[in-house]
Amino acid sequence: MKTSYINGRFIEAGEQELKNINPSDISDVIDTFSRAGRAETRQAITAAAAAADSWGRSNPQQRFDILDFIGSEILARREELGALLSREEGKTLPEGIGEVTRAGYLFKFFAGEALRIGGEKLDSVRAGATIDITREPVGVVGIITPWNFPVAIPAWKIAPALCYGNAVVFKPAELVPSSAWALAEIISRSGLPAGVFNMVIGPGREVGDEIIGSNEVQAITFTGSVSTGTMIAQRCAARMAKVQLELGGKNPLIVLDDADLEQAVDVAVQGSFYSTGQRCTASSRIIVTDGIYNDFIALLAKRTKALRVGNALSSDTQIGPVASASQLQQDLEYIEIAKQEGATLLVGGKRIEGETEGYYLQPAIFTDVDNRMRICREEVFGPVATVSRVADYEAALAEANDTQFGLSAGICTTSLKYAEHYKRHAKAGMVMVNLPTAGVDYHVPFGGTKASSYGPREQGRYAAEFYTRVKTAYQKAD
Ligand code: ADP
Repeated sequence: MKTSYINGRFIEAGEQELKNINPSDISDVIDTFSRAGRAETRQAITAAAAAADSWGRSNPQQRFDILDFIGSEILARREELGALLSREEGKTLPEGIGEVTRAGYLFKFFAGEALRIGGEKLDSVRAGATIDITREPVGVVGIITPWNFPVAIPAWKIAPALCYGNAVVFKPAELVPSSAWALAEIISRSGLPAGVFNMVIGPGREVGDEIIGSNEVQAITFTGSVSTGTMIAQRCAARMAKVQLELGGKNPLIVLDDADLEQAVDVAVQGSFYSTGQRCTASSRIIVTDGIYNDFIALLAKRTKALRVGNALSSDTQIGPVASASQLQQDLEYIEIAKQEGATLLVGGKRIEGETEGYYLQPAIFTDVDNRMRICREEVFGPVATVSRVADYEAALAEANDTQFGLSAGICTTSLKYAEHYKRHAKAGMVMVNLPTAGVDYHVPFGGTKASSYGPREQGRYAAEFYTRVKTAYQKAD
């Protein structure tokens, strides 16, 4: 049985078992884990708190070597780790390998950043005094991650946390512990001192709750649902801990009359349905202007029907299964809700059988929607998209921005004027022109506005904002 990693070792197995099931074939038990609880989480926090100071004083070469080792091993094993990821989460093999590759590069990026942590030196406005502005580690960072990116999201939180000199208590999602465990196993051989990195596998309500409430954890970074994220922000505020949240999306993709039709349909299919639509950046509201609407809908329906849904590990699969029974149930419920609200189900939306028993769902497109419908306002987190018809760009922009979320916003157009206007006026943290709303680079900031994100940005050099505190030191020089 696999176990949590605390204070430099994988702990003894306890009694509570957690089975990791393959969503493409529910008879396939990938791994069995021992579930940790509150006591183990407290041990992990104590270990991290004890190790934090010394790691905070580690030199850049040490940090570079460790992060570079982790990144190199991930990249060298990308096929194997990608297959494991696809097997437990259900995204296709190329997507799984792509995600692992990205995780490897994230560690490499932050290995380099460790060499570039600097500060500023200014003269004081007072005669003969100088000022140093430096970045210091925050201390112990709690990392709570969701199931949809089992390696990339842990990587983009763990790598900067370590890079900037923090100790970590990491809680992966219980649905996808195998990828997290493989990552922890690599980290365990990286030369990192005991206690600096800890991984606790267990339920959010115990392990997560303990991390959030501990006064020894100075910062919490969380990706997951709006409801859990809101609760975390409130509890962190109550005890003055730093908090960073990445939550949902209801991302619009505008298609204008002047768009390249083929490209727009590719962008829509890729953004809405790849990774089974289980990306917070997925396009779930496609907003199309009158002149291109009929052609767009016809081609989109044709392409969507032709998508091959199947076992994530089969080479001809384009869309893997939904990740879990409860997520499938949620998707099917939203499909019912949309029908009851009066939307027209254009294609898909039915559970289908595969060669093995899994959570297979045909990607669904709804038309005749109104942006006030629940299907247009609430995040489904599955292969479900709506297409609405609007008169012109202005109406499209207003509808795109009419949402509680603001993560990613896309537009397909050949007009420089509209592309530029949209980049400035889309109320989202990320804007995509002639590219899918989902699929981002690893070296630049990631995050949204409104209910999608809270706190400093993740990734790229902007990650320093969350993982450090700024100190201003004055010195009388003469
Ligand atoms: P989803 O499962 O839809 O991604 P959740 O917000 O439920 O979103 O889960 C995201 C992460 O938060 C998971 O690791 C989960 O275990 C954890 N989590 C869920 N509920 C709580 C909670 N009450 N306290 C702390 N962590 C939680």
